[in-house]
Amino acid sequence: MVDNVFRIKTNKPGKTVTIMGGVHGNEVCGVSVVGEFSKKLKINRGIVNLIIGNPKAVVANTRHVEMNLNRAFLGLSCLTKAQRATYESKRAKEIMPYLKESDALLDIHSSGTPGSVPFIICEEHSYEVVKYLPFKIVTSGWDNLEPGATDGFVNKNGGQGICVECGHHDDPKAIETARKTAMVFLWLLGIKGKPKNFSTVRQTFVKMWHIHITKNNFELSRNFKDFEKIKKGTLIGADGSKKIKAPKDCYILFARNRQSAGEEAFLLGELVNNRQTKTLKVVT
Ligand SMILES: [Zn+2]
Repeated sequence: MVDNVFRIKTNKPGKTVTIMGGVHGNEVCGVSVVGEFSKKLKINRGIVNLIIGNPKAVVANTRHVEMNLNRAFLGLSCLTKAQRATYESKRAKEIMPYLKESDALLDIHSSGTPGSVPFIICEEHSYEVVKYLPFKIVTSGWDNLEPGATDGFVNKNGGQGICVECGHHDDPKAIETARKTAMVFLWLLGIKGKPKNFSTVRQTFVKMWHIHITKNNFELSRNFKDFEKIKKGTLIGADGSKKIKAPKDCYILFARNRQSAGEEAFLLGELVNNRQTKTLKVVT
């Protein structure tokens, strides 16, 4: 068995799912839920893999040790020689077989931005699952913009990759949100019964269509809140001496100053219209 992977198996046929926490080592809500479930989760059918993504970073309470694990789920030919030599690249290889066999993944994250808004990352084929999860914002489009993430890897292998951002690292509600989400996820995939006090929330769907990767560095013109609505022409900041403006009315996310080239400075998204979701048939 691979380090920090816990497998709960029944002899009843059902789906295979994975719940991950600690893909970024300083995001404690997922680590806490995976730890708790690994000790006491009881399931009715199927298989659940519980995985601490980056155990070394969790111990050091840091985002990562050598590279972002959530950009390492790629074929080796897509990584540089230096990236291939990292702890995270090796850890991604250990975890890949569990993600490949999974019908669905729930990867639990939190954010370092104070006051950050909880939201979901998935692609459209998972809309019918995520509409039952306790998040007001659902985003898509990430597989194209940020390849190498756990959820993108599951999507590529025919499963449903769902990542949840549960709010700020220190927000005590983040653990509660993560636990509740995991219980609903297990129910929706037919692994466990319906959770008590289940309810749905009204959701807004946003498709991310642009990421700014720095050419030099990035200095924001001001602070932007996550999912702040900005108008066409809004000055977002400067990459070196080049001013960067919003090309159309949109939502901005993860806007931050960056010191060097090749870093992610911000993302832009827009509302999804004509969203189609089918009614989910829940296996009980
Ligand atoms: Zn994270």
